[in-house]
Amino acid sequence: MKEILVKVSKPYKIYIDHGVIDKISDLVGVDRSRRFVVLTDKNVDSLYFETLAKALSKTKSDIFKFVIEPGEDSKSFDNLISLLEFMADKDINSKDVLIAFGGGVVGDLGGFAAAIYRRGIDYIQVPTTLLAQVDSSVGGKTAINLSRAKNMVGSFNQPRAVFCDRQFLHTLADDEFACGMGEVIKYGILFDRDLFLKLMDRGRLDENLEPIIARCISLKRDIVEEDEFDTGKRQLLNLGHSLAHSIEVISNHTIKHGKAVAIGIYTVALGCAKSGLLPSGDLELIKEVIQTHNLPFKLPYKLSDMMEIIRKDKKRRGDYINEILIRKIGDTYLEQFDFDGLEEFFKNGVSHA
Ligand code: ADP
Ligand code: ZN
Repeated sequence: MKEILVKVSKPYKIYIDHGVIDKISDLVGVDRSRRFVVLTDKNVDSLYFETLAKALSKTKSDIFKFVIEPGEDSKSFDNLISLLEFMADKDINSKDVLIAFGGGVVGDLGGFAAAIYRRGIDYIQVPTTLLAQVDSSVGGKTAINLSRAKNMVGSFNQPRAVFCDRQFLHTLADDEFACGMGEVIKYGILFDRDLFLKLMDRGRLDENLEPIIARCISLKRDIVEEDEFDTGKRQLLNLGHSLAHSIEVISNHTIKHGKAVAIGIYTVALGCAKSGLLPSGDLELIKEVIQTHNLPFKLPYKLSDMMEIIRKDKKRRGDYINEILIRKIGDTYLEQFDFDGLEEFFKNGVSHA
């Protein structure tokens, strides 16, 4: 088992191993007076609730289950309120623990509910998608959506622990797995050329998957430790994300996050290559790795429509926006653009579907 310590305002450990969920009781400590609220979605519930319940049975604690519909629409005020009412009905108190058992949707909603219920109770992340394991379950960002935009209401709330168990990934749809790879590719391009190069060989992915997940997590850990509240270096993790969000919005979320990120990353890379920053060999490698993992790279909409969304984006800092540029694979930095400058930059990177 690999353990990664995250030294932030509320330090915690991330446990990574095939079957690590079976150790959850020992690792969080057996305490009968503590009870668990498990937040999960219908798919994960039917596939794995028994596995989690068995793993928790050693604690002899009461377990209450709250199940939501799968999908982004579940990150809603309605679900938040129902979950809070449910916890109040069960008289959940500050000794008790919420377990977010599922993908990013469950993690974001659960983390936010835990942040505000009785001014905060502990929560544990048990991510069951690749995307949530390598990215969203780490770092304490929690949120729900407003009708206008994703993640508009939320808080920084670090979990008490994270359990990354590869056994859950066996049932993940290929498409969802590919979306997770979109974020994995992001980590390679951002910080680690060797990691990136490992991703070129899809055939060997299976045997390498656990070290790859652990590497992404430790790269994210380093950034989060330095900039827990996203005021500086953490913004690097938004590589390709300003375009990605606009794609998700215009598509009405029919284009999934990981795919939108792949398109965003490629467009930024093309812009960097056309302006002489990124060597063309690296651009080719980025395109190849995206295609290897069955992810798209071409912009599906008109750049001007996407820019309109970006101008309204919550990441907007006054009249400027920070975009992440690629010097070479493994070497990236933040650059401030005004919106016209950014549009100009992206025009270089336009390769329409
Ligand atoms: P993400 O982690 O990509 O943000 P979601 O929370 O929306 O994603 O989960 C994506 C989809 O995958 C949902 O339909 C969810 O029910 C499903 N899912 C989550 N974990 C698993 C799993 N281990 N096996 C199969 N399907 C899963
Ligand atoms: Zn992302």
